[in-house]
Formats: sequence, structure tokens, C-alpha cells
Amino acid sequence: MKIVYGPVASWRLGKSLGVDLICSAEKICSFDCIYCQLEKTKKITSKREAFVSIRKVEEEVENALERTTPDVITFSGMGEPTLAVNIDDAIKTIKELTNIPIAILTNSTLLNDKKLQEPLKKIDIIVAKLDAPNEELFQKINRPTKGITFEETLKGIKDMRQQFNGKFALQIMFMNENKNYVHKLAELAQEIKPDEVQINTPLRPCAVKPLTKGELDEIEKAFTGLNTISVYHSPKPMTDPLDKLELIKRRRMEP
Ligand code: SF4
Repeated sequence: MKIVYGPVASWRLGKSLGVDLICSAEKICSFDCIYCQLEKTKKITSKREAFVSIRKVEEEVENALERTTPDVITFSGMGEPTLAVNIDDAIKTIKELTNIPIAILTNSTLLNDKKLQEPLKKIDIIVAKLDAPNEELFQKINRPTKGITFEETLKGIKDMRQQFNGKFALQIMFMNENKNYVHKLAELAQEIKPDEVQINTPLRPCAVKPLTKGELDEIEKAFTGLNTISVYHSPKPMTDPLDKLELIKRRRMEP
């Protein structure tokens, strides 16, 4: 499996070159979300580790940038990218290679870790997940590993947001399980004050039924006063992936 994949067409980031610091055949994540396109999390953990070498990251990113010019380089992939303990070195290495903005798609569970907050301050875009407004729903939808709580995760989002000078987006996946908690989630979003709220529903094949366009439009209205984008209204750009086979292997991943 390669560390670098795409560029993929992302409804929220444009042409996104993926960098997978987990790069495992099986997902490794601190969540086991009911809607995950990567199926059940067999390795569920909040322990940070080095999964790939930085030399390999440098080699693959450099090679990819000789062949394509993405809008953004995004840490995403086979699980939660902040579990990679060498993300700091990966950020420094990519920054030395290019001025293209760096983004991360994170499930937010480790954002309260000071050792992670420092390197993340150097990137350009953070997309932080928040699907639940309380512990009960957090357990039901995101099914975190032991020791991860709703309160700590929310605190991490708020802390990171305050310290971050780049673009901070909040991503919320809406489904039947949380659609009646829209106003509470909107209240939390008002407290967090993100630059953008990304209103999503699971449109890719998974165990959870997506909400309709009409339902998502109604939900978006609850976020009045915040800058919102919705998956049903955000066209994807055309992309030309460098390695189509690699992308097929990763076809269920959300860019
Ligand atoms: S959706 Fe993302 S955060 Fe949730 S289990 Fe899958 S990889 Fe982890």
C-alpha cells in the first residue's frame, strides 16, 4: 500500500492529495463509527505510534508533486491520522517540499493532547469531527475506545480552535440517530466558532441510511449565522488520480 494517493475529488477540499500516515491494510482508529465506510474497527486504540517512515513520506510526496498539482495535501487514510506520533516530522517534511496548503481530517479525540496541538498549529486546515452533543449519543454513534469521552473530546476541539490560526472546520455527519439533536449541535458549533460547518450524511455505502437532501437542507437552517457547506450542494472537482489501482483499493475512503 502506498502512503500517498489521489488526488481525490473532495466536496470540501477540492483536489486533495491524500497522505496516509497509518497506511495499514486494516483501519486503525480511536473510534468505531456506525457509519464508517472502512467497516468495523478491529484495531481500536488511542495509543500513538509511528506507522510509516518519514523518508518514505518525503519520497512519495516529492514524486507525486512532480506529476500533479493538488489544491491541498490532506492527512487522511486508513484510520485516524493523529494516531501517527511522527505527524510533526511529516508536516515539517511536506512544508519543506511545497507551499501547497496542508489539511487534516480528524475525529477530534486526541485534540486535547498538547503534544499534538503544537504540530497541528503549523498546518493550514483542520477538519474536526463532532457528531454527538452528549456522552450517550457519542457512545452510540462514534463508539470510542476506552478512556475517550465526549467532554474531553469537546474540550480538545475548543482548545485547538482557540489556538489555531488557519481554517478550522467542523464536520458533522447527520443520520437518523442524531437528526433530532440538531439544535444542540448547532449550539455547540456556535460555542466553538469554526470558520466553516460541513453538513454531511453517509452517501457512500455503509450500514447507515443517509438523510435526504430535504432533511439536510432543514438541518443547515439551524446553523444560521455560521458559514456552512452541505454535501448535497458541493460539487466535486474533476481529478486525474496518479495511481487508479491504489484509489480502487481505497475506494471507500472519504477524502
Ligand atoms: S469514520 Fe473515521 S473516525 Fe469513524 S471509525 Fe471510520 S475512520 Fe474512524
